[in-house]
Amino acid sequence: MEFGESVPVAEEPQDQAHGSIHDEGDWGKIAETLRKSIGGDAFQRWFGAATWGGASNGQGAVIVPGEIHQVWIETNYLPELLYAASQATEGLHKINILVAENSGTGEASIDDFSAAAPQVRKEMPGEMLDKRAAAAGLNPGYTFENFVVGGNSQFAHAACEAVATKRSVGYNPLFIHGGSGLGKTHLMHAIGREILRRRPDCRVIYLTCEKFTNEFIEAIRKGEIEKFRRRYRSSDVLLIDDVQFLAGKERSQEEFFHTFNTLLDGRNQVVLTSDRPACEIKSIEPRLISRFECGLAVELQPPQIETRIAILRKKTAEWKVSIDESVLLFLAEKIRSNVRRLEGALVRVATFASLAGESVSVQKVEHLLRDFIQEEASRQVTIDGIQRAVAETFDLRLADMISRRRPASIAFPRQIAMYLSRSLTHNSLVEIGESFGGRDHGTVIHACKKVVSELEKQPGLRERIERIEQQLRR
Ligand code: ADP
Ligand code: MG
Repeated sequence: MEFGESVPVAEEPQDQAHGSIHDEGDWGKIAETLRKSIGGDAFQRWFGAATWGGASNGQGAVIVPGEIHQVWIETNYLPELLYAASQATEGLHKINILVAENSGTGEASIDDFSAAAPQVRKEMPGEMLDKRAAAAGLNPGYTFENFVVGGNSQFAHAACEAVATKRSVGYNPLFIHGGSGLGKTHLMHAIGREILRRRPDCRVIYLTCEKFTNEFIEAIRKGEIEKFRRRYRSSDVLLIDDVQFLAGKERSQEEFFHTFNTLLDGRNQVVLTSDRPACEIKSIEPRLISRFECGLAVELQPPQIETRIAILRKKTAEWKVSIDESVLLFLAEKIRSNVRRLEGALVRVATFASLAGESVSVQKVEHLLRDFIQEEASRQVTIDGIQRAVAETFDLRLADMISRRRPASIAFPRQIAMYLSRSLTHNSLVEIGESFGGRDHGTVIHACKKVVSELEKQPGLRERIERIEQQLRR
């Protein structure tokens, strides 16, 4: 049976206490478990007139009298329902909520939402949620369901889900960092949307750090600073994207610091993203960095090939386009470092395929995407390449890059190489440490900090490092 399909409603009289049934045994057990987990009132209101439509191929169906029931159950009770059904019938992994064909009997009125809300968890049906999410500045496509989790994002994803689903999980602020196009904004929106779904009356605000700064300047100009403060300091959940943008903006940093403290003191959730770890954001006040670091920091890394393929499959399914598997594989192999670019390449291929009205071959795609592919290849700077270039510039042996020798004439170039590995490759701190003779990630962080501080002090160092960068990019 397809989701959303209508089916004829059962003829038998309805047993309001347990719902009428096709299969008395099955539904009896399911109803009992469900009633226990969601409470008698909620059960009666939403499942009182439901019927069991049977199960096949691991999918079960519950038939409800109207669309309101369908939406409400889908939004609020699917996990409980699936759990209850899987207790009764082994191997179930999905439940479809179907609207009976002659709906109209037992139809819930809109008042049922407000009447039901105080007794059950307050969650919103789809349409209302979309409106609230849009008002909060959230993109409807950026949900947890649409996010493909891989080894590169497992930890970050789990932390985001925890913040979204558990109150006072203690990750405050949650600081998501990682290179461009790796899904930071996507996850941040997903958090906001999930919180709104669970707690409709929550004041969620998403904005970019750039917007925060611009609004702040505008508020000063118009003498409306109090209004500005009230708005942001009274939010329950504040999501600020790309905080690296605060670098060098002293007054905005000051304002941000106070907003931040007010929210944290009130135990309101703050989520931040940045294209680099907090300690690597230049020209930013130390007190702000230590604030950023007082919660949980999670890193998004570029996805592995399997995850890249899974992302492409998911997108083609979402867009309802069919692209040959060999083409998807080709894209996943060629575009490695950035999901946004991967998506961009897929859009181009999909557009071409739909305009041409034919399926595209790998050969065709290679031609279609030659600029993407060339650029991608030129971006691949490796740790090994960096070590060689630094050793050459400082007249050292390559072995010194991984040795334990500590004279400054060796240690500092080695730190520069770690710093460059951090800024030019997508390797994690741990991987970088390993490539430098099995050092730990703390050593890499220390090296990066050291280079940043030396850049301020040593004349000519910046030019020297930039020359190495240029050489690597060639
Ligand atoms: P960032 O904020 O890190 O620069 P975005 O969150 O804007 O990156 O992601 C760029 C694009 O890639 C978005 O369209 C997003 O939906 C998509 N994307 C990134 N990671 C994933 C993922 N793991 N699964 C599905 N889509 C992803
Ligand atoms: Mg972003």
